[in-house]
Amino acid sequence: MTQKWAPETAVVETARPPRERDAPLNPAVVLSSTFVGTHDLGTDSADADGIQYGRFGNPTWSPFERALAELECAELPGLVFASGLAAVSAALELVAPGGTVIMPQHCYLGSLSAAKDSAAVGRFDVITVDIADTDAVNDAVSAAAERHAGTDRAVMLWIESPTNPMLEVADLPALVAHAKNLGALTVVDNTFATPLVQQPLTVGADVVVHSVTKYLAGHSDVVLGAALTSDPALHEALHHHRSIRGAVAGPWEVWLALRGLRTLALRVERSQQNAMELAERLSDYPEIEVRFPGLVSDPGHDRAVAQLKGFGSVLCVVLPTPAAARAVTEAVSLWTPATSLGGVESLIERRRRHAHEPHSVPGGLLRLSVGIEHVDDLWNDLKHALATGLAAS
Ligand SMILES: *Cc1c(COP(=O)(O)O)cnc(C)c1O
Repeated sequence: MTQKWAPETAVVETARPPRERDAPLNPAVVLSSTFVGTHDLGTDSADADGIQYGRFGNPTWSPFERALAELECAELPGLVFASGLAAVSAALELVAPGGTVIMPQHCYLGSLSAAKDSAAVGRFDVITVDIADTDAVNDAVSAAAERHAGTDRAVMLWIESPTNPMLEVADLPALVAHAKNLGALTVVDNTFATPLVQQPLTVGADVVVHSVTKYLAGHSDVVLGAALTSDPALHEALHHHRSIRGAVAGPWEVWLALRGLRTLALRVERSQQNAMELAERLSDYPEIEVRFPGLVSDPGHDRAVAQLKGFGSVLCVVLPTPAAARAVTEAVSLWTPATSLGGVESLIERRRRHAHEPHSVPGGLLRLSVGIEHVDDLWNDLKHALATGLAAS
């Protein structure tokens, strides 16, 4: 799909009602569980009968779904889900029974848990890999493809990049090309990057999933997800899953998400600038390790420069001890100690407080979701909290 507008314009201009006298500028919120049918005697097709019921569709979803498709360069409308994890679960269901899912070892914990739960009941196998190690990932995909030779959709490569919370950067084009060659499905969780920074479908990925809760909605006031694909069969399977398993989005939430999406480009631009500036200032502390692909010293820097249109606005710092990290989260007053990311406000979280966080994530690691506040206010608050934390270690 060729894009008519630059993304900065598209987020503002797309998905408006037709321009007619007295038409509203914004799509309406449609609060209805059921829709009038035609009961057309001439056809058996459900489509001919329209939306029918609120689990199959809602006019409030459509503008947002079209906007997402435009941003991700999808040939088909996006599919909004009740949460990011509902979209993740629907995508994981695309794997044939008995198949293999290859996932990053550092990955959104809910996605890993969903996959591991399915593995525990024998639905498919899960293999975890270092997604930044292209040869290791390709070897794992090759081995799985060989094991499942002849079975359609038996191998899925799940990519998250940059990863949560280690911010490793995957070689997306290389991984997708190799997997495609072997007939493996590729799914990219594009939540951290947003379509402004990376558009996985344009390098051949089969499916993109989003936690709309994060940057796309952007105000920490909705829980929502989405899946996108240009493949009609995969689209149909995802749509069927949503309609029948029933993880459908509320119309209010989708309306809020479209409202939030209007400022996506501005929010991402500002929060990325803030993150870059903070990462540089943090680099002056010898006691602290900073992980951020924008830093020249970061292992993912060269790949990020080559493949991404920005470095994102999540950054991590590793304090010398878990106690020091905890003291930082207790000493901040502007930053909010909380999970989640992608909102206008800056959040800070010690990741290993989660029982299931992989032990390869350092105990002193703090994940910072940088918001759109003035960078000096963020810095002054953080600097003070770091002094407290380092004194505690
Ligand atoms: C938050 C998140 C999810 C899950 O989305 P929810 O909207 O919380 O269900 C999935 N992937 C990533 C990368 C996330 O950050």
